[in-house]
Amino acid sequence: MPIDLSGRVAIVTGAGGGLGRAHALLLGKRGAKVLVNDLGGARDGSGGDGTMAEAVVEDIRRAGGEAIANGASVTDVDQVQAMVDQAMTAWGSVDILVNNAGILRDRTFAKQDLFDFRTVIEVHLMGSVNCTKAVWGIMTAQNRGRIMMTTSSSGLYGNFGQAQYGAAKMGLVGLMKTLSQEGRKYDIRVNCLAPSAATRMTEDIMDEAQLAALDPASVSPAMLALVCDDAPSGVILCAGAGSVEAAHVTLTRGIHVGDGEDAPERVLAGLDRIVDRGGEMVPPTGLEQSLYELSRVPGLMAAA
Ligand code: NAD
Repeated sequence: MPIDLSGRVAIVTGAGGGLGRAHALLLGKRGAKVLVNDLGGARDGSGGDGTMAEAVVEDIRRAGGEAIANGASVTDVDQVQAMVDQAMTAWGSVDILVNNAGILRDRTFAKQDLFDFRTVIEVHLMGSVNCTKAVWGIMTAQNRGRIMMTTSSSGLYGNFGQAQYGAAKMGLVGLMKTLSQEGRKYDIRVNCLAPSAATRMTEDIMDEAQLAALDPASVSPAMLALVCDDAPSGVILCAGAGSVEAAHVTLTRGIHVGDGEDAPERVLAGLDRIVDRGGEMVPPTGLEQSLYELSRVPGLMAAA
């Protein structure tokens, strides 16, 4: 069955170019009404004009879709509220939020300025928080919502020179994991996408042949699967060059070392077994991870 988003209202942040533009075009093609947000700044977040979002709106309209432009900065709570109000006034609902806006200020941690560190966290992590908070009440009231956070392999696995970016992107995984639990009773499904695409963010770290294979449009099918009616929740998909994988934060079986003076030495001596990935699991919640540890305390769970 083709994924049909007719009647659904979607907001895509940072959709004036790159991945956001590809996401907005695909959402429009599948029938969603799309609010195309973009501040229109440079790669590092400086400057800004509204024309990027307007150009994408024109593209969606030319293809027969419905779209409106918005120039809010995701870091400004009032502007974000006005953006959500704009969608509500135009179409009366917000069903899908794609948190995609982002900037880059790569530097090694030694050379990293703390102002830049905070700015990157502010745009990626707090920007997604601001937009999610502004639609959460609408989605709980209508008992339906789909939210996607844009994480990154830099957060999941680390990348040289991207300490702030990686911290923000892994922060989004924690946000998504908790919101997918809190959203369950309202049928709000929350997921993460870690894309790989040729955009202005990656133009200087890959060669020409690699960039040619990394069309942003080849990432957007994974986005669509994460925000459609049948979307999963709590999932991290990685997508690029037409491939899709899932990333998990796993837990090894580990060992019970107990307490006592020599417990640190027993941790060190048991490290090979602690990091051994045989029988690895993914706890459904943080609490379940603690309960797993408690289940290994001799006599405790039986007594409870
Ligand atoms: P991009 O620079 O083309 O897109 C980012 C967009 O966000 C820009 O159009 C920019 O104007 C907009 N933006 C920046 N700050 C904003 C703000 N405060 N408010 C509103 N809009 C703002 O780069 P892209 O590669 O398409 O990046 C899209 C997302 O994907 C980002 O979150 C990025 O971190 C993530 N990502 C990209 C890759 C990749 O391979 N390209 C890999 C991992 C993650």
